[in-house]
Amino acid sequence: MSADYDLAVVGSGFAGSLLAMIARRLGKSVILLERGKHPRFAIGESTTPLSNLLLEELATRYDLPNLLPLCKWGTWRQTHPELACGLKRGFTFYHHQPGREPQRDDQLLVAASPRDAIADTHWYRADVDSFFVREAQRAGVDYREEVRLNSAREHDGGIAIEGERLAVTARFVVDATGPRGFLHRALALPEFPLPDMPPTQALYTHFTDVGRLDKIDNPPYPVDDAAVHHIFDGGWIWVLRFANGITSAGAAAAFSVGEGESAWRRLVDRFPAIRRQFASAKAVMPFVHAPRLSFRSGTIAGRRWALLPSAAGFVDPLLSTGFPLTLLGVSRLAQVIEHGWESPALSTYARQTEDELLATARLIGALYASMDNFPVFVSLSLLYFAAASFSETARRLGKPHLAGSFLLHDNPRFQMQPILERARTVRNDVESRSLSDEIRRFIEPFNVAGLGDPERRNWYPADAEDMLRTAPKLGASREDVARVLDRCGFQAAG
Ligand SMILES: Cc1cc2nc3c(=O)[nH]c(=O)nc-3n(C[C@H](O)[C@H](O)[C@H](O)COP(=O)(O)OP(=O)(O)OC[C@H]3O[C@@H](n4cnc5c(N)ncnc54)[C@H](O)[C@@H]3O)c2cc1C
Repeated sequence: MSADYDLAVVGSGFAGSLLAMIARRLGKSVILLERGKHPRFAIGESTTPLSNLLLEELATRYDLPNLLPLCKWGTWRQTHPELACGLKRGFTFYHHQPGREPQRDDQLLVAASPRDAIADTHWYRADVDSFFVREAQRAGVDYREEVRLNSAREHDGGIAIEGERLAVTARFVVDATGPRGFLHRALALPEFPLPDMPPTQALYTHFTDVGRLDKIDNPPYPVDDAAVHHIFDGGWIWVLRFANGITSAGAAAAFSVGEGESAWRRLVDRFPAIRRQFASAKAVMPFVHAPRLSFRSGTIAGRRWALLPSAAGFVDPLLSTGFPLTLLGVSRLAQVIEHGWESPALSTYARQTEDELLATARLIGALYASMDNFPVFVSLSLLYFAAASFSETARRLGKPHLAGSFLLHDNPRFQMQPILERARTVRNDVESRSLSDEIRRFIEPFNVAGLGDPERRNWYPADAEDMLRTAPKLGASREDVARVLDRCGFQAAG
């Protein structure tokens, strides 16, 4: 096959398919090239309020109404019961020490939504990515799967991609193949280290029969209907339940986790509560061992090509930063497509993608360094939750300029680096309390979720009053915020 397109997208995860659909809506001819065949397993499953909002904004702006139901648990289950997903009401953290049960002070519970209908989801990627590819095809994207690509070569008018029985030329190529992906190899791009991030690895699979955690009285949301993070010295385990009986679970760690089921058992057996949760669990596919988890490509865009954020780098599954970073990138590349490949937006895209990756790495690196000190870990996590909830509210109020970058990293009043450095020096309870006070003061101008209130003892419900009361921080009135809450169905009808 030999053909000529405006845009070639390599890799048909949800992000490649989404960008391909958008380009079609913008009137471009598009080919989408996939190495595998759908449906297929993919990791990266947990959404956040910000990632769902970004998807909603893209689906609305580029007239992709079929994607809208996937932005909330309630509409998803009503409209697409055939696509598996899981309910994510918040972020659950338990701190573990070998041989010891976690206590009340070992918990951090941050609600992301007040009720199931408007909650976030975990995506069962085999189903979701197949759906996105079908939607891309419906939008007029040419889709080829099971392709083997060998090379990419820039020339005056565009870029030529060659593979087995395949030659495609395009004016522009977007690489959506994930870390160390197609263009990174084909163009022999350098790999750079991520600042302050330890080398990490992962071991994960899908299970059935994963137990629910012990019942707790009156938590802000059901703790299992969430992204569960089990934190311990040097690493953590995620547990994401899908409604089809499957649970995604895995470990990411700065130490060697080993390979296969025996390594998994050795790890979970160290912690009584996790051992109980996995006592009857059965892996339904082989364990995946990723020996080098984090990644950063030294170059993100050229004259005729760009890596999506998910191909340009990856930090860690902690805090589900992959989807929002990727969707911000899709949104910016959509602008590049709208305004022309030669527009300055492309170099801005590369710079923003790199800056956001580095800011994420610095925060997550500091979180790794504090996994043996839960009070510090909690305080640092509030930086993320403050930035994320402020950004979401700003966008919902129609003020995206207040939160133009992930983690507010380009906001001069939200420069986290000195705090992250100080967190690494905390040695005792006094220093830890002083850090926590400093972080409370630091996030105060952005805190729209009551974060750090000592009375809440690290249980944070989704409380409308928190947002109404803090409206002036966003240059808004109580009424403005009340309208936003109404629009997104924050309060149950009736
Ligand atoms: C262990 C782990 C857990 C994660 N958990 C989360 C999470 O909970 N939340 C979150 O937000 N993010 C998470 N992430 C990040 C998340 O996986 C990515 O942000 C997301 O998958 C990006 O989607 P994508 O469509 O860009 O790429 P991918 O999902 O990586 O899809 C890439 C596609 O490209 C195809 N491909 C690869 N090479 C080639 C080639 N040479 N030619 C053609 N096709 C090719 C692949 O087959 C695949 O279909 C996690 C990542 C890891 C590693």
